[in-house]
Amino acid sequence: MRTTLIVGNWKMNKTASEAGPFVRTLLQRLPTMPTVDVVLAPPFTALETVRSILGPSASVGLGAQNLFWEDAGAYTGEVSAPMLRDLGCRYVILGHSERRTIFSESDAHVHKKIRSATQHGLSPILCIGESLQQREAGSTDQIITQQLSGCLDGLTVEDTAALTIAYEPVWAIGTGKAATAEQAVAVHRTIRQWLGHKWSTTVADRTRILYGGSTTPKNIEGFLRSDQIDGALVGGACLDVESFATMIEIARRLRS
Ligand code: PEP
Repeated sequence: MRTTLIVGNWKMNKTASEAGPFVRTLLQRLPTMPTVDVVLAPPFTALETVRSILGPSASVGLGAQNLFWEDAGAYTGEVSAPMLRDLGCRYVILGHSERRTIFSESDAHVHKKIRSATQHGLSPILCIGESLQQREAGSTDQIITQQLSGCLDGLTVEDTAALTIAYEPVWAIGTGKAATAEQAVAVHRTIRQWLGHKWSTTVADRTRILYGGSTTPKNIEGFLRSDQIDGALVGGACLDVESFATMIEIARRLRS
């Protein structure tokens, strides 16, 4: 049984001072025993503030948006998995399409980051997805499986225990043009099949696969109606506390 997961990716938004009131309001809006998992992924600069408000027995988990694969050393500007663990992070988003396109991250880079995350007890949320050109060329499945292999080949079954995959079609991110539930379900099936062939049906059955790309309070229900979709990675709509809380409430209603 996979617990539904709703992740808020703040991207490069909100200062630490702005994060405080946001998280306090969100916690007031959520029940103390939510039946879905919720993760907040603020920028590095707000992690400490968010952690201190969430507290130690947080029903809301803390996540980072990236890490560097070495533990420490001369890597100016980078942040490592042990540093994130020390700050109370439980999750890390890796391979987001903005990192791939703006910062030239390859599948090989993402692979090293996933290894570092799992070695240090962080749960990686691996983002994969095709561009519009690739979808229109009919190569979505090929791109998806290529990304899965490039990022995950070489991992053991144990390494996959805390893995979450987020299917995020590049053309749907921040565009207001979400995939249809049918499009998402088709790719989620491809991902689950790949996991089954690669490891086992146990791994395929236990791995959470989220949809991400222009989800809102208006369209999230359509995605969560399918048992193939285990939650959402939310960008723009998570920056407004009312809209994010509403999305979590919808997920609770559908999945409790
Ligand atoms: C994202 O950045 O992961 C994302 C899904 O963004 P948005 O919801 O704004 O499309």
